[in-house]
Amino acid sequence: MSTKLELTAWGSDISQVKIPLPNALKWVNSYLVEGSNGYTVIDPGQHTEDAVEAWQAAFAELNMKISDVEKVVLTHHHPDHYGLAGWFQEACDAPVYMSEIAHQHAQMMWGQGQRATDVIYRLFEQHGMDSDMLAEIRTHLESFVPFVSPQPEVRYIEGDTIQLGDRTWETILTNGHASGHLCFYAGATKEMIIGDQVLPQISPNISYVPGSDPQPLESFLTSLRHLSSYDVAIAYPGHRNPFQHVQGRIADLLVHHEERLLKFRELLTEPKTAYQCCVALFNSNKLTVHQLRFAMSETLAHLIELERRGHAREERLVDGTMIYRSV
Ligand SMILES: [Zn+2]
Ligand SMILES: [Zn+2]
Repeated sequence: MSTKLELTAWGSDISQVKIPLPNALKWVNSYLVEGSNGYTVIDPGQHTEDAVEAWQAAFAELNMKISDVEKVVLTHHHPDHYGLAGWFQEACDAPVYMSEIAHQHAQMMWGQGQRATDVIYRLFEQHGMDSDMLAEIRTHLESFVPFVSPQPEVRYIEGDTIQLGDRTWETILTNGHASGHLCFYAGATKEMIIGDQVLPQISPNISYVPGSDPQPLESFLTSLRHLSSYDVAIAYPGHRNPFQHVQGRIADLLVHHEERLLKFRELLTEPKTAYQCCVALFNSNKLTVHQLRFAMSETLAHLIELERRGHAREERLVDGTMIYRSV
């Protein structure tokens, strides 16, 4: 993979650093916020050799050393954002900040003796995924451990504000894509570090994961409506490039999920398992195992929302398989 450096300056103190990802998203955006005490790194990326090389190229380009990093701040716990935090901490002893809820989820997914792999495997099995696919899912889930190792010691982001570089930013809790996900807002300049909550061109994945948010789509739609009250001139997202049309994107995402809920509802004219719904809606034979896992979790999030709205009902068959039927 190319380690061509892609670094872009935004405003007076923010640089976007594209950190490569070994999947279809291609890269995650890290942001360096420059301040008089050093650099704040937002979402350092996923731990791969290519990612470390990209950081070394960025340090050389900016004429800085890793010891110039003052702190690492995470919008959420997903491996493509959180994975390199421990590597940074080992290399420069910087404190790592994230929300307490996001840290609990990082522990649940990748902590010592975690049970998330078994729990997700059983969930997908119960919801009708066939055994060949299930075997791939287990291998896939276990493959993430090196991407998030070593794990950092974490300090919790508390209160309504956080210092990034020399500026104070408002912290905004935006559940749904990830529990405990935070956006950061600078009201004076109308800038928002928006993580994966709103992305240009991409619909952020909404996953149901047992032990986490029981109604993630409802949480996501609620947090989108809350974000729509902010006046944003530019948003710095976790994927693709900084963008201006935040209100338009929020409106698009709200419509997108209503349309998708309608499609799931139509699929339930005949009772189906979540896996059958997933295959029908996402053209699953074209998906990688990574994409299929997210498609399945997103299908469950939508079926749960249909149930919450009184449009569907979950039932257990005698063999233990769960099916959904319309109400
Ligand atoms: Zn994410
Ligand atoms: Zn991401």
